[in-house]
Amino acid sequence: MNALPDFRLFRPASAGEAVRLNTAHASSRFIAGGTDLLPNIRRGLFNPAVLIDLGGIPEMATITESADGLRIGAGVTLAKLAVDPRVVARLPALAQAALAVAGPTHRQSATLGGNLCLDTRCRYYNQSEFWRDSIHHCLKLDGDTCRVAVKSKRCYAAFSGDVAPALIVLGAEVEVLGEKGARRLAIADLYADDGMAWLTLKPDELLVAVHVPFDDAWTSAYEKMRIRGSIDFPLAGVSVALRRDGANIGGLRIACTGVASRPFAVDGLDVIAGKLFDAAAQTIVAECVDLANRSMKTTLVDALFRRNVTPVLARRLAQRLWNGA
Ligand SMILES: Cc1cc2nc3c(=O)[nH]c(=O)nc-3n(C[C@H](O)[C@H](O)[C@H](O)COP(=O)(O)OP(=O)(O)OC[C@H]3O[C@@H](n4cnc5c(N)ncnc54)[C@H](O)[C@@H]3O)c2cc1C
Ligand code: SF4
Repeated sequence: MNALPDFRLFRPASAGEAVRLNTAHASSRFIAGGTDLLPNIRRGLFNPAVLIDLGGIPEMATITESADGLRIGAGVTLAKLAVDPRVVARLPALAQAALAVAGPTHRQSATLGGNLCLDTRCRYYNQSEFWRDSIHHCLKLDGDTCRVAVKSKRCYAAFSGDVAPALIVLGAEVEVLGEKGARRLAIADLYADDGMAWLTLKPDELLVAVHVPFDDAWTSAYEKMRIRGSIDFPLAGVSVALRRDGANIGGLRIACTGVASRPFAVDGLDVIAGKLFDAAAQTIVAECVDLANRSMKTTLVDALFRRNVTPVLARRLAQRLWNGA
C-alpha cells in the first residue's frame, strides 16, 4: 500500500455545513470512521484533496426514539448500534448485522453511514496500485476492460456491506441532505445495480440518518458466509423478517448482500403468505433467492459457491425464525 497522500481536513459542526463544504470543494470526500476510505486511499483508488470529517456533527451521532421507531444518525458507530437495547430487542436483524461487520476494533470507529455508502468490491479492484498496474487496470478505475466479464460494458463489483439487507427487511428509510434540502427514500432506493455507480445519492448529498419503524409482529435475523469467521466481508449475506399468523406465514421478507452490485429485496415471496412454512414453502424461498442472485467471480471464492450458499442461508434463517416466532 502507498503512504497516505496529503489532503486538507475540515471538521464541520452541522450536516448543512458538511454539504456546503462538499459542494465548495470539487475533489472532496466525506470521511466517517475511515475504516474503508483510508485503506482505499492508500491503495490509490481515490486521491481526494479534501476530506470532510463527519465525526463532529451531533445530529448524526445519536439514536432517538419516537412512537414510530428509531432515528439513527449516520455517524452512530456499529459497536453502539449492535448493543443498543432497543435495537437488540426490537430490531434484532440490525443488531446482528452491525455485530457481523469486520472485527471489534473496526466497529468502534466504523459508522452506519459509512457501511451503507461502502464502495463496491472486486478482487481486481481492491488491490495495490502496483498490482492493478500489472493487469492494466479495469473498467471501474483507469482501464477499459472488465476482468470478470471481458465483453461486459458494465462493472459487476459487489456491494458487500452487512447492514443494508437488515434495514431493507425492516422497512427502513434514509434521510439525505443536499444543497436543495432534505429528502427521504426507501433504503432499497439508495442503491443501483451498477458496480461503478451503486449509490443513487446526488454528488452534493450527505446521508444524515436512517429511520427504522418498530413492528413487533415481525421477527428478524441476519447471517453471512465469510472466509474468516472473526473478520471478513460477506461472500453472501442474508437478512430475513418473518411474521407468523397463527399456524401460517403472515409475511416473509428476504434481502441479500455480497452477491450483486447492490443489496436487494427478494421478489416473489408473497405467494407463500397464508400458508404453512413446510417443505413446499422452503422450496419457494430457495428458488426465489436463487433467481435473484447475481454472483459473479468478483471474490477469490467461486461464484457458484456464493450462488449455492445464499438460498441455504435464507432457508435456514427463515426456518429458525419460524420455529422461534
Ligand atoms: C479488514 C476489514 C474488514 C472489513 N470487514 C467488513 C465486513 O465484514 N462487513 C462490512 O460491511 N464492512 C467491512 N469492512 C469495511 C468497513 O470497515 C465497514 O463497512 C464500515 O462500516 C465503514 O464505515 P466507516 O464509517 O469506517 O466508513 P468510511 O470508511 O469513513 O466511509 C466509507 C465510504 O462512505 C462514505 N460516507 C461515509 N459516511 C457517509 C455519509 N454519512 N454520507 C455519505 N457518504 C458517506 C465515504 O465517503 C466513503 O466513500 C471491513 C474493512 C476492513 C479494513
Ligand atoms: S467487475 Fe470488472 S470492472 Fe468491476 S471491478 Fe471487477 S474487474 Fe473491474
